[in-house]
Amino acid sequence: MLFRVDPLELIDLKLKLLSEIGNLLNSSEKERAIKDQHSKRLVRWCGLTIHFTINCPFKCSYCYIEDMGFKFSDPKPYPLSGKELVYSLLLNPNFLPGRTGTLLAIGAVSEPFIFLNNALDKLDWLARLGNPIQFSTKQYISASYATKIREISEKYNTPISPLITIITLENADLLEPNAPDPERRLDTIKNLRDAGLFPILFLRPLIPGVNLHEVERILIEARKAGAIGVVVGSFRVTGKIIERLREHEINVSEIEKRVKRIDNVQRPVPLPEKKIIIEKIKNLGMIPWASACCANSWTAKVPCPSACFIQGPCTKCPNNCNYPRDVPNANRVELALLRLGIKARVKGKKVVLENYPFKGVEMLVRNISRRIPIVKKSLRRRK
Ligand code: SF4
Ligand code: SF4
Repeated sequence: MLFRVDPLELIDLKLKLLSEIGNLLNSSEKERAIKDQHSKRLVRWCGLTIHFTINCPFKCSYCYIEDMGFKFSDPKPYPLSGKELVYSLLLNPNFLPGRTGTLLAIGAVSEPFIFLNNALDKLDWLARLGNPIQFSTKQYISASYATKIREISEKYNTPISPLITIITLENADLLEPNAPDPERRLDTIKNLRDAGLFPILFLRPLIPGVNLHEVERILIEARKAGAIGVVVGSFRVTGKIIERLREHEINVSEIEKRVKRIDNVQRPVPLPEKKIIIEKIKNLGMIPWASACCANSWTAKVPCPSACFIQGPCTKCPNNCNYPRDVPNANRVELALLRLGIKARVKGKKVVLENYPFKGVEMLVRNISRRIPIVKKSLRRRK
C-alpha cells in the first residue's frame, strides 16, 4: 500500500513547519534563507534539486556544470546552514513538505559528499521535513558513514534513496579522472545495503559509442554488490563537453551522428537502446526505472509526485501507482490549490488551470493532485 496523499494536510504541515523552523532562526539567518536560490528554485521532474557543495573536483569529462557557471576547482560547502536551507525550502511557493510532498534530489550540480560532516548535518536538517530524499554520488561511502545516513532516515522516519553512479569500469581514468574508482563505488553500494538502505545504480549518462558496450558488466557487478534497481539515463551534450571528451581522446563520432546541432545549449543525445537496457535490467532481477523520481517514489512508497503513471516514463515498477486508486480526492485538490492562490478544476486525470499565479506551478499541481496540469498558452505567457 502506498501512502495516501491529502492535499490540505500538506498545506497545513507547511504552515506549521514554517512557523516552527522560523522560530529557530535569528533575523540574519532568515535573511540569508530568503535571499537564497532554494527559496525560488523551480521543481523539476526529479524533484527540487538541493545543493550541498558548490563546484566539483571530480572533473568528469561528460559533466555539464562548467556550462552552468560552476568550476572543477575550489569546491566549497554550500554557504547555508542546515536550518537555513530547510527554512529557505519552506519559503519556496513550489515546495510542499512531508512524505507525499516534493521529492528532494541532492547532487545535481556537484558531488554532495565532499565535506562529509557538513553533508551529514545538512541531511539531518532536511530529514526533519519528512520529504523523500534522494542523493546521487560517486564518493566512497564507508560502512560507518552509511550507518549514520540510515540512522538519520530512521530518526525522522524519512525515506532516503541512494543513487550510486557507475557508468564505466574500463575507462574511468578518462571519463571520471578525479572520482573514486568504480570498484570503490561498488563497495559504497555494499556498505549502504549492509546498513539497511536500498542503493540504486545510477546508470547515467549512457553515451553512445563510449560506454554502451559495458552496460551488462556494470549491471552484473552492481547487482552482486547489492543494488536493488537501476535508474537509466541518457546524455546531454554541449560544445564544451565534446571538446573535453576529445581532449581525453574519446571517440565522439557516434554522438555527432545522433545530434544534429552541438553548441552551448544542453542537447539530449537520442538513445533508442534504452528499451533494451530496461529489459536487460528486468532479466537480471533488478528494478528498472527510466526516471529518478520513480526510484525515489518507490523507496518512499508514495504515488509518483510527477504523476509518471498517468503521463511520463513509467516502467511499471513494484510501486504499482494507480489511477484512480492513488490520486487524492478532487474536491480536496481544488480547495488546496485555491489556498495556494491557484484556481483550477479537476477533470478526471487532468487539472485545468484557470490562472497562473507563479512560475513553475505545473509541477506543484502534479504533486498536489497526482494528475496532469493543463495550462492554456495564453495564461502561461502572462508570467
Ligand atoms: S561528479 Fe557529477 S558534478 Fe562532479 S564532475 Fe562528475 S558529473 Fe560533474
Ligand atoms: S509505478 Fe510507474 S509511476 Fe509509479 S513509481 Fe513505479 S515507475 Fe514510477
